[in-house]
Amino acid sequence: MEEKLWHANYPKEIPTTIDYDEKPLHVFLGDAAKRYGEKKALYFMGKELSFTEVHTQAKIMANYFQQLGLNKGDRVAIMLPNCPQAVISYYGALMAGGIVVQTNPLYTERELEYQLNDSGATFIVCLDILVPRVKNVKKDTPLKHIFVAGIKDYLPFPKNLIYPFIQKKQYNMVVKVDHGGDTHVWTKILEQTTPNYQPVEVDPKEDLALLQYTGGTTGFPKGVMLTHYNLVSNVQMSDAWLYKTKEGEEIVLGVLPFFHVYGMTTVMNMSIMAGQKMILMPKFDAGDVLKTIQKQKPTLFPGAPTIYVGLLNHPDLKKYDLSSIEACISGSAPLPVEVQEQFEKVTGGRLVEGYGLTESSPVTHANFVWEKRINGSIGIPWPDTDSKILDMETLEEAEIGDVGEVAVKGPQVMKGYWNNQEETDKVLKDGWLFTGDMGYMDENGYFYIVDRKKDMIIAGGYNIYPREVEEVLYEHEGVLEVAVAGIPDPYRGETVKAFVVAKDGYDLNEEDLNTFCRKHLAAYKVPRLYEFRDELPKTAVGKILRRQLIDSDTKKKQEE
Ligand code: AMP
Repeated sequence: MEEKLWHANYPKEIPTTIDYDEKPLHVFLGDAAKRYGEKKALYFMGKELSFTEVHTQAKIMANYFQQLGLNKGDRVAIMLPNCPQAVISYYGALMAGGIVVQTNPLYTERELEYQLNDSGATFIVCLDILVPRVKNVKKDTPLKHIFVAGIKDYLPFPKNLIYPFIQKKQYNMVVKVDHGGDTHVWTKILEQTTPNYQPVEVDPKEDLALLQYTGGTTGFPKGVMLTHYNLVSNVQMSDAWLYKTKEGEEIVLGVLPFFHVYGMTTVMNMSIMAGQKMILMPKFDAGDVLKTIQKQKPTLFPGAPTIYVGLLNHPDLKKYDLSSIEACISGSAPLPVEVQEQFEKVTGGRLVEGYGLTESSPVTHANFVWEKRINGSIGIPWPDTDSKILDMETLEEAEIGDVGEVAVKGPQVMKGYWNNQEETDKVLKDGWLFTGDMGYMDENGYFYIVDRKKDMIIAGGYNIYPREVEEVLYEHEGVLEVAVAGIPDPYRGETVKAFVVAKDGYDLNEEDLNTFCRKHLAAYKVPRLYEFRDELPKTAVGKILRRQLIDSDTKKKQEE
């Protein structure tokens, strides 16, 4: 690509352009098995599987899918938390020629039914405790086969384990669910099938590997179509960005869920391609994560701000040795500078901010991990990734420093939304993806996100970006978490409200926060309303659900 402003900052170790492998994504698992063989590919609750084992079991799954009639392009839903089966069924489905549809295990029947119908998935791999939910919607969807995976498939039920969604007593009840006819139990498939699947011809640039649903908080979720090439290129960029890491030697902490594109790319696919061992954690629990870091010694830890905040505020933080951590890229939401600095102090490693979205596989920008990073910035576009800021009114490229909509272009950008040309046309124009995020670029080519287009608050004619107010509140010593939102107001259009979670044992009050904000913010940005909560609603990757907070506020007012 042509020389860009930000390329001058690239260290010599990172290329600005990469010669991507035009291979299907699953071929990398076969390559890893050849290269790393018995080396451990994953760790899950005390059990480890080698690259060869993961590869063999994925081939067995591919064979089984094909025996049940899976044809190229058929959709396979995977509704699992992070566990070996999530990795194996993902690669198995791709080998068989399928398109993976990632499904959040917390989906209600209604959400699940919508996704199965929209994607047209005929197979689902789900956790045993979710079988009743899947069966309830099956008759109203194209679903034909249910693969049942259990945490117990690879291990005896560990003592003290709180199952991600259920306690042991209940667990023993649900596994007795009668699996008949259209249901196929994981352990039986592994015993009865051979790894002799039929390889399928794949065109990496055209053929889809994934439908990743997004946009659920605003209207109906849309299936983002990501090709093999989209996913492979984003992992190769990531590998180039982390140039100091050693192929085959790193250990990655997998606490981000793989059913979200961020964990899927930066932990799962990255580990397979670079021969890293992944530590699978089925849910985020700060205490468990701290223990796991001390014991398993991961070197890489991609996460989201709320995950790092959760760890920093654990009462026993100081008891753990976290010094194995070398590099973390935080994405999904703004990373408060306070959190970044504290986390680096505690671990001695590097934590930098990156940016991306489902529609771009996901990463498009990040700070350099070891050099020239700018706190508060999302960093610089990745290799082969172009980015610009568009003036909201003229749609022309904005001046340096002026806020507009961030657009991105590159090999990781989606093909479009599944069966939805109208929505595709709204965001994809001449290969440019309009992100819906507002931001600006500085004179060195570093980008900054000021907010989501739709989250901007307009109060009394002023534009206020929640993130700026949140940054200030995070600096207050008593604030654990905060979300700022625009609440409908009859006179001012909207008014600024802060939803705050106090640190344990800290007696926070409105007056204190107000005085603090007044010191650091222009009067019109200072929240007029505060609400103290025990916790804030979040998505699976820890993104705070601002919309839900606004809705609950409106509902409360209506009830009053
Ligand atoms: P998703 O498609 O779920 O990955 O969400 C993508 C959205 O997350 C982006 O459009 C941004 O609004 C937000 N996001 C991701 N990274 C950052 C970041 N570093 N700072 C602010 N917002 C971010």
